[in-house]
Amino acid sequence: MTDLSAPLQNTPALQGASTQQDTLAQQNTAALQSAPAQQNTPALQSTPAQQNTPDTPPLQRHAPLRKFWFDDVPPRESIAAERRYRQERLAVAFRLFARYGFDQGLAGHITARDPEWPDHFWVNPFGKHFSRIRVSDLLLVNAQGEIVVGDGPLNQAAFAIHAAIHEAHPNVVAAAHTHSLYGKAWSTLGRTLDPLTQDSCAFYQDHALFDDFRGVVLDTDEGARIAAALGERKAVILKNHGILTAGPSVEAAAWWYIALDNACHAQLLAEAAGTPQAIPHDVATLTHEQVGRPGGALFAFQSLLEGLVEAEPDVLT
Ligand SMILES: [Zn+2]
Repeated sequence: MTDLSAPLQNTPALQGASTQQDTLAQQNTAALQSAPAQQNTPALQSTPAQQNTPDTPPLQRHAPLRKFWFDDVPPRESIAAERRYRQERLAVAFRLFARYGFDQGLAGHITARDPEWPDHFWVNPFGKHFSRIRVSDLLLVNAQGEIVVGDGPLNQAAFAIHAAIHEAHPNVVAAAHTHSLYGKAWSTLGRTLDPLTQDSCAFYQDHALFDDFRGVVLDTDEGARIAAALGERKAVILKNHGILTAGPSVEAAAWWYIALDNACHAQLLAEAAGTPQAIPHDVATLTHEQVGRPGGALFAFQSLLEGLVEAEPDVLT
């Protein structure tokens, strides 16, 4: 940890440069405008804005604390801690989905792979509204679709889709699927999204189309075909059905779901208003690398988690 109480030793030259920059940024007087930028005149140094009083001590220069936007989340110390971490974020994700309006009827499920039993996953009980789900409500389901922990029924479609995805993609920790309005509306067009905005580039060449709707998904054979369409991508558009995301953490799968529904919404608006102009391939590819990483998704989810847990602390019970 950097000792914030220990000011760095500034040289007179550094202090002079800082004073000049502060003055130029804060004042826009005629005298300043007429003064050459490189000159540090006595008149400038004596202006009131440069005075530090006992109530406004000077801000010392500090060494940078971080190299990048996102700090890695430290690994949990035990399997039990990892399980609890995933459960808490899963319960929070349901509450967030309710806030975003992703709670149409009985549809929708988010799953988190158990860290000790990788062929088991945690999922919401069928019929429990997303806005009321707590950690203690979550079900643990095995590879045969049997509930081994928890009360309440299991949504058969949740098992059929998610079990196949978790089995086919060992690197997937979590997957999310609901019938959110804009994802569902976009799915009827039978197309993948174009890279229209910086945000939608998170999905550029990183989502697929599943064009084989056959009614409610009730068997794992159809789940397996959805898992195959998903491949190593982060999302799949299920034509005439909705959208699905998958990722290496609960945070990533949940945030990418929110972001994908938003991207569908944006393209629907743009195409309704005119002929949107897509971002060129090279720029879209670069932007995908910048905004499409799991670390950024985790950071975005965390910013939502804190407010939700403060407002609805029972989510963690
Ligand atoms: Zn569905």
